[in-house]
Amino acid sequence: MHEFSLCQEIVTAVLSEMEKVGSPCRLIKTTVTAGKLRQIVPEYLTFAYETLTKDTIAEGSTLEVEVVPIVIKCLQCGWSGEVEGNYFFQCVECKSNKVEIMSGKELYLKNLEVEKDE
Ligand SMILES: [Zn+2]
Repeated sequence: MHEFSLCQEIVTAVLSEMEKVGSPCRLIKTTVTAGKLRQIVPEYLTFAYETLTKDTIAEGSTLEVEVVPIVIKCLQCGWSGEVEGNYFFQCVECKSNKVEIMSGKELYLKNLEVEKDE
């Protein structure tokens, strides 16, 4: 389950962002963008997130995972589009293996929704 180590990085980033806010606030929601090539199971990531944020300032917040589809571009014929699963290395049009991966590899913290304590 590689979600745990990935999530550790996310939580570390979240906590350092929360520190930057300074004033007392509560984290409501964390949004993460994850490419399909990362092969993340959102349920595992959510579970890891809940476990890792326990007893931290981020405890009780929810995690939302935005999955980015795999998009490739063929260097042979110029075709570009979304592909599924194991065929990301092959052009749909001309079956060439000379393809460039345009998206699907990303993993980053997209947004934090915080609520200031009065
Ligand atoms: Zn092609």
